[in-house]
Amino acid sequence: MNSYNCSFKIELDSEESIKKWVTAFNEKSKETMVYETCRNGKGKKVVKIFYLRCHHKQRQSGMHTKSNKKLKTTHKIHNNKHTNCPAQLMLTLLPPATKLNGFCVSVLLKHNHNHLVQVTDALRFRPLSEQSKKDYYDLFSHGHSPATAHLEYETNLMYSDKPYLIADRNCNPKVSDVYNLFNKWRKCNIGVRTGKYLFAELEKCVAVYNEEYNDIGGKAFIQRYSDCKW
Ligand SMILES: [Zn+2]
Repeated sequence: MNSYNCSFKIELDSEESIKKWVTAFNEKSKETMVYETCRNGKGKKVVKIFYLRCHHKQRQSGMHTKSNKKLKTTHKIHNNKHTNCPAQLMLTLLPPATKLNGFCVSVLLKHNHNHLVQVTDALRFRPLSEQSKKDYYDLFSHGHSPATAHLEYETNLMYSDKPYLIADRNCNPKVSDVYNLFNKWRKCNIGVRTGKYLFAELEKCVAVYNEEYNDIGGKAFIQRYSDCKW
């Protein structure tokens, strides 16, 4: 695998445009560089510096935080994701006064991954893209269950002009991801499966039903039992 360091400047001038550039960089390179930290620049020569790491390296902060416990658990499950990869990306936003030929962001890329990048074993850990989430939400809103949505989505991908994307979690979420997306979608669009909020949603449905069928005599009631804890 080729390892190299390189630095260059790009024509960007805001934090928002830097975030878009990083998203496009990850999409194009199939790497996943995530934000580690950012620091405000000292003096007038630097506005802000963004430090990114490869997502195959665990976060360095606090050893006893909840997030670290979660990471440790995740590490046990996906023990071949965290390879302590040293690859880094640093973007320095320069003030407009130092703008040279439109280049206002200085980039330092340390492309020294200790794992292969464009292989199934790495692609299966990439985060879900916003487009794949949107596609699944569309399928759910058309009446698909998680199982049928996954079948439909994966079949379409398989017969598309880019069938190799099926190995990339970014474009093809795992079954567990699909169920997580469905639960999120259902909570926003239908309501929860149990508890007091379910009955609140049911009461709304009954009210809508009665309003709709009032002219033809339809009438429904919902009654909560006195010993119901909700
Ligand atoms: Zn890496």
